Amino acid sequence: MDTVDLAIVGGGVIGALVAREAVAAFPDVTIAVLERGLIGQGASSRSAGVHFPRGATARVRSMSEHSQRVWEGLAAELDLPIREVDATVVTSGDADALSTTYPRLGDETAPADPARGWAAPPGARAWTLPGCHYADVQGVAGRVLAGVRDRVTVLEGTEVTELSSDGAYHRLTLGQGRELLARRVVLAPGPWLAHPAWADLVAPLGLRVKKVVATHVESSPAPDDPLTIFDDEDAFLLPLHGRGHFLFSYTSDRWDVAPDDTGLVLEPSDLDDARAVLGRFAPGLVARCDSGRVFCDAYSPSREPVVTELRPGLVFAGAANGSGYRLAPAIAAETVAALELTPTRTLSQPRQRQS
Ligand SMILES: Cc1cc2nc3c(=O)[nH]c(=O)nc-3n(C[C@H](O)[C@H](O)[C@H](O)COP(=O)(O)OP(=O)(O)OC[C@H]3O[C@@H](n4cnc5c(N)ncnc54)[C@H](O)[C@@H]3O)c2cc1C
Repeated sequence: MDTVDLAIVGGGVIGALVAREAVAAFPDVTIAVLERGLIGQGASSRSAGVHFPRGATARVRSMSEHSQRVWEGLAAELDLPIREVDATVVTSGDADALSTTYPRLGDETAPADPARGWAAPPGARAWTLPGCHYADVQGVAGRVLAGVRDRVTVLEGTEVTELSSDGAYHRLTLGQGRELLARRVVLAPGPWLAHPAWADLVAPLGLRVKKVVATHVESSPAPDDPLTIFDDEDAFLLPLHGRGHFLFSYTSDRWDVAPDDTGLVLEPSDLDDARAVLGRFAPGLVARCDSGRVFCDAYSPSREPVVTELRPGLVFAGAANGSGYRLAPAIAAETVAALELTPTRTLSQPRQRQS
């Protein structure tokens, strides 16, 4: 049986960032990432990957600031697939409240672009928002792990099927029938909250899984087209320059879906809902909104990410409410701080067989 200091269950963007943060914090510990599919293949692969400096609460604003600094540093260091983008926030609401939610809010600007057929509801105002980018999140997760792969054992195609504890160690049963002992475990399962290995442990957190829909709009973005955030609707229109179309993200209200449900697809009602919101700002794009991407994400009752110990030495990290990419570095930092892991070289070695 193998033994590691830290097992990270889930190789999405959060698991990848936790691995990197743990390597930096505890250079001598042994670490394994266990991923049932391929790295970044879960919610991370469907993500729009938008980062904007936003936070409805002081904690999320602070996480957003921290994450922005980390992403900017990592983008240069690891040549991550991240593209900076100009951004505009549109709202009919209170400008003071907006500057609290978006601490980096810039100058007031025109809320519409008639040249492109983009309108704005009466009374809407707009501000520039510096510091935004978007990313290929699956690519980012892979690159981040590649940067530490000489220090971290990455086991793909490896489902964790059972998780138990005997006090000193956590015992993980892996899909191939192998077992792994770990002094600490980070559970970063994305929307796979109901997996039988941990459903009972996670249930008291009150997390739920919501459908997330982003439609694709067949219109070629110009190089300087901005990301437009419709704050009142919790929606945004993103130019995906590398793919040659726009992405329109809006809020779906379908709760308690399951990530492996084959019915989790783009439904006609999803397109209708997206077009209704998009039509208020860019009526010329409605007819081009015909396809998209659908998956789901984990949400918390407080709408803040959750980093918490489920039992001694087992830390849950996730439930970032549709913001798991942009807040991943801060979630990872909180997670590693919660591990209280000091390297114990003898424990890092495989256990001696009892004779
Ligand atoms: C359409 C869409 C658009 C989005 N847009 C944005 C955006 O613009 N900005 C933003 O910040 N966020 C966005 N999000 C949310 C963001 O993508 C997620 O919050 C984030 O990817 C979650 O990362 P994660 O690592 O927690 O989960 P995941 O990426 O789902 O990773 C969890 C991993 O755990 C693995 N796993 C599960 N069970 C097991 C098991 N038993 N054993 C081993 N491995 C297991 C899965 O295979 C998976 O790879 C979007 C999400 C969607 C669906």
